Amino acid sequence: MVDAGLLGRLEKIVGEGHVMTGYNDRAGHAVDQWARLRIAQNLSSAPEAIPDVVVRPKDVNAVTKLLSLANESFIPVVPFGMGTGVCGGVMAAEGGLSLDLSRLDKIVKIDELSMVVTVEAGVKGSVLESALAARGYTLGHCPMWIGDGTVGGWASSRVSGWFSSAYGAFEDMVVGMDIALPDGGVISTENIPREFGYPDFRQVFLGAEGMLGVIVRLRLKISRIPKVRRFRAYRFMDLDMGLEAMRRIMQQGMNPFVMRLMDPFETLVSYFGSGGVAPFLEQVKFFETVRRLLKLDLEGVSDSLLWPTLKRLLEHPFLVRHLLDHAPMASMLFVGFEGDEQATKDDLDESKDLITRATGVPLGPEPAEHWFKRRNQPLSYDKPIFDSGGFVETLAVAGLWRDLSSIYHKARALGGVRILIPAFFSNASQEGAVCHFRLLGMAKSAQSALDLYDWAVPRVIKQAMAEGSTVSYGSGIGLAKRDFIEDDYRGGGRLFWALRQAFDPQLLMNPQKLYPTTVPVAASKQDEIVGGGNISPVLTMTWDHRLLEQSVVTPEVPEEIVELLQIARRSDLKVVCQTGERASKPKNSDVKTLTIRLDQMDRVIHMDPVSCTVTVQSGMSMIYLENFLREKGFTLGYAPRARLSLSVGEYLASVAPHEGSPRYGTVRDNCIGLSAFLADGHQFSVRPAPGRSAGPNLMHAFIGTRGRLGIITAACFRVFPWPAVSDAVAFGCSEPKLAVAAIREILLQGIKPAWVLVVLRAPGGSRSRSRVVIQMEGSRRYVSHGMSVIREKIEPLGMTPENIRAEERLTPPPKLYPSVERFLPMDQVMSLVQRFSQDESPQCPEVHVTHFSSQGATVRLLLRDRAHQVPEDLASVFEADGTDEPLAKAFSVIKAGMDPEDLLLEF
Ligand SMILES: Cc1cc2nc3c(=O)[nH]c(=O)nc-3n(C[C@H](O)[C@H](O)[C@H](O)COP(=O)(O)OP(=O)(O)OC[C@H]3O[C@@H](n4cnc5c(N)ncnc54)[C@H](O)[C@@H]3O)c2cc1C
Repeated sequence: MVDAGLLGRLEKIVGEGHVMTGYNDRAGHAVDQWARLRIAQNLSSAPEAIPDVVVRPKDVNAVTKLLSLANESFIPVVPFGMGTGVCGGVMAAEGGLSLDLSRLDKIVKIDELSMVVTVEAGVKGSVLESALAARGYTLGHCPMWIGDGTVGGWASSRVSGWFSSAYGAFEDMVVGMDIALPDGGVISTENIPREFGYPDFRQVFLGAEGMLGVIVRLRLKISRIPKVRRFRAYRFMDLDMGLEAMRRIMQQGMNPFVMRLMDPFETLVSYFGSGGVAPFLEQVKFFETVRRLLKLDLEGVSDSLLWPTLKRLLEHPFLVRHLLDHAPMASMLFVGFEGDEQATKDDLDESKDLITRATGVPLGPEPAEHWFKRRNQPLSYDKPIFDSGGFVETLAVAGLWRDLSSIYHKARALGGVRILIPAFFSNASQEGAVCHFRLLGMAKSAQSALDLYDWAVPRVIKQAMAEGSTVSYGSGIGLAKRDFIEDDYRGGGRLFWALRQAFDPQLLMNPQKLYPTTVPVAASKQDEIVGGGNISPVLTMTWDHRLLEQSVVTPEVPEEIVELLQIARRSDLKVVCQTGERASKPKNSDVKTLTIRLDQMDRVIHMDPVSCTVTVQSGMSMIYLENFLREKGFTLGYAPRARLSLSVGEYLASVAPHEGSPRYGTVRDNCIGLSAFLADGHQFSVRPAPGRSAGPNLMHAFIGTRGRLGIITAACFRVFPWPAVSDAVAFGCSEPKLAVAAIREILLQGIKPAWVLVVLRAPGGSRSRSRVVIQMEGSRRYVSHGMSVIREKIEPLGMTPENIRAEERLTPPPKLYPSVERFLPMDQVMSLVQRFSQDESPQCPEVHVTHFSSQGATVRLLLRDRAHQVPEDLASVFEADGTDEPLAKAFSVIKAGMDPEDLLLEF
């Protein structure tokens, strides 16, 4: 496939010495840390599926040239970071070219104003972290074990580390990416205006494992290194009570940067690595029972004893599990907070209160501190187990709080007499956490280890998913889990296929990963429609009759939408969805349309107060939803009041990428499950989960795309306990740029207001009428601490605070005025604010700055007056015409793949 001529052309692009055809180089690029591969290597030393050639480009330009050449020569391309993935993602399933990105290793820029670092994709995580630490910053991504990896590999496999409760998973740190496409182009996923109605492409490329293009450059959020970190350990005699304690901490609005609950087996194993758990052991008779039964000598216990002990235990999996299930046993919880001295002390006290109320017994800080120091060391028993013919596989799955206990107990019980499946829980969020199963198997030969692996892993994943978990959390999908991803994103294969048509139509990028390439193409005709053969003719006639008369129909149940789509197609009508008062007219009035009104689909499907989620039909109005939640003691928090008049479906379909609140996050982040009908009646659905962190998040194809890719029928939102205290403060200011700088500093100190708005040039006003409104919500302690920091930062600037009622936080314009808005990085926000605050001309619009984060804010120009205009020199910033962009072209291919007859109109 790769002949001498081609090798010459490759060398011309990457330079001498960077095209490698030797067997060892090629084989070395075909393997990663997937446990199954490691077992298979014990069977045969030759890896399967190796590339024909390895190339190491030195910059983005070289990557694009290589991709063009491969595309034109029809050669598969497999991106390679460091090969630390755990799912076989770098295996060259169809041979071809391994694109080693290790020379793309530049840290391009650390922007301390917008708190963003720009890096090339091949930069090693540890190198980046050291460079940031030298300037007092951190990424906040801490991989669970020693595994390093490149930032491009992290993004492509959507990794998540120990500190995700405070900093988010790696995907949350990605502000934007540049992607090199097989056609030789480069696209950026950032700052795409809302009015283009594109999906959040960042969510599509994250987790795509190189199948849609090569990530070449990333812009990542950075944070200040905290002053102190403090820990506590607790013992629980009942694991479920440990989960309850974690849940209470998260739903109290606290942000432990690390929280890890280990089941009794994991606790026992961690005991070996830790010198500081003597008080813990004294209280747990169970360990003594195990010790006597297995004749273990624990005198002078140390790491060196771990493996012999573990080996004994693994020889009797059934006995060990039985003992763990029936003996009085303990689970250990580690909690850590970071920040300043006083705040971490207060957090530890508050969390102690919650934990002891959930039956946790304090063990002091030592066990947790000890574990934290060793957190990045490799599992000391990993190598001995593999060397002895066994295996260790870690499967992390995310679940809602209500499901976690059964996910753990049922999947763990599957080990039976053959393997041990201990677990620990971490990566907690308000609605759930991640269960990390460790599958420990011993076998007499490499072949029986492989058989045992193939028996156990799919069973555990299937069982966990049957109890409500995701297929994976972090670590990627690759070859290891691709058989299960369609169960996580039902109907997702079709959408992923459309994405591949848009970005990699020759299907050359990393073939056979994530979803098999043989996913059926969405055929368009009636026989493809779900339920098409079963629709009652009577019902159809009823609809036909109504259609003839009014062409506006109001289905009562989602299934009727399938039928309406079929009728529309038969009658040559286009379809537009509507709810509420808004009557949206199709842009082209010559087009005959069928309007589907979703007003009657307005039920709350499920309110889950345990996991703090609500699932609703898309016809429900946002204001009704917020009132419903308020009665139950919850709020959406992140929905701006001005948008509460919309229905859930309209809201999601038109939401801007950064819309949200510093405290509650963006709307897009808080939508954690979704159902939609595609144009051909197929259903797409994503069950609610605390975080997906595996594969591209396809749900985002429907959010913000104005109904063009599908009709949203239901959504699940994260909801927040109604805040105990809500307080707002306003400041009049003459120097709004200083006010923006102060807001940035407040955010960097970890204070997250529920709402922040800066208004420049309010009606009839002059420069001095600029106003800042900040609203804090949460516990009494949190709000009063936040308010004191806000005053401390703002008052020295000469702005006098005036207390206002929380409800007055935003004064939305009485009617909708035309406006344009963009999310901009902090340096641009500041210079625009400076400029507008000095502009006295009548054409200058009113300016709102909102949706703040440490990286930037949304600047909205409100054309309230006839004279108001978007300044000419800013037209390119605020009024970009995206029709010629590569992303516009990609979107039209995606649309054509999903809806070949262009049935669904934008609303
Ligand atoms: C010891 C150890 C600890 C780990 N800890 C964690 C953890 O805490 N949390 C977690 O979630 N995972 C963890 N992992 C797994 C994690 O998946 C990898 O560390 C990491 O994602 C892979 O990075 P890499 O650069 O080595 O990528 P590779 O293994 O080289 O590649 C991974 C996949 O991404 C693709 N890819 C690589 N670079 C690019 C690019 N620039 N553009 C497009 N595609 C690309 C590859 O084709 C492949 O499909 C760990 C793994 C190990 C071995």
